[in-house]
Amino acid sequence: GSEIAFVGRSNVGKSTLMREFTGHTFTTGKKPGVTRSPNHYDWAGADFTFTDLPGFGFMEGVEEGTREAIKTDIVQYIEEHSAEILVGVLVVDGKAVIDIIDRHSERGEVPHDVEMFHFLREVEIPTVVAVNKMDKVDDRDERLDALCDRLGLPGPWQQWRDVVAPISAKRGQIDPLREALETHLREQHRDDL
Ligand code: GDP
Repeated sequence: GSEIAFVGRSNVGKSTLMREFTGHTFTTGKKPGVTRSPNHYDWAGADFTFTDLPGFGFMEGVEEGTREAIKTDIVQYIEEHSAEILVGVLVVDGKAVIDIIDRHSERGEVPHDVEMFHFLREVEIPTVVAVNKMDKVDDRDERLDALCDRLGLPGPWQQWRDVVAPISAKRGQIDPLREALETHLREQHRDDL
C-alpha cells in the first residue's frame, strides 16, 4: 500500500511528531536504537500508512557499527519501497541542525541529514524537511534560510514551503507540515488522472 515515510536523527522529536499526527500513544524506544524495524500507523481516514523508520546518527551508548547498520537498513527499506512511498519526511531539530551539519562538513564528511535529503530525491521520493523544535529558535528566518543553503535550495526559505516545514511537535504546531504533505499528495493524485 501507499505510505509516508518518516526519517530523522535520533532525538529530533520524531516519536512526538508521529504521536501528534496519528493520535497513537505508543511507548517510544526510550533506549536509543530500540526501534530497529519500521513501525506502521494508519492515518485516520486516509488510505495510506505512516512509516516510522529508526532514528539514525549519534546515540548515547550505541556503537558505531550498530549506527552504521541502522542507517544501511533505513536506506535499504527506502530503496525497496520507493514505489509505495508517496512522500518522505526528513525530521530535523531546528535548534541544532545547522551546527551539526557544519561540524560534519568541516571534518570533510557528508552530514547525515544532507545525505538523506539527497538520497530521497535521488530515488525520486518527494521530500519534506520537517524542521522541529522551532519553539526553541529565536532567529527563525535566518535559521531556515541557512538550512535551505545547506540543502542546496536557493533561498529565501519562504520559496520552499512545500519542502521546508517549520513545526513544533511538542506544542502541536504542525500545520506547515500538514499543508506541505497535502500539496504533494494532491500533485501525485493529479498525475494519476
Ligand atoms: P525521537 O528520538 O526523534 O523519537 O525524539 P522524541 O520524540 O523522543 O523527542 C526527543 C526529545 O525532544 C523529547 O524530550 C521531546 O519532548 C523533545 N521534543 C520533541 N518535539 C519537540 C518540540 O517541538 N520542541 C521542543 N522544545 N522539544 C521537543
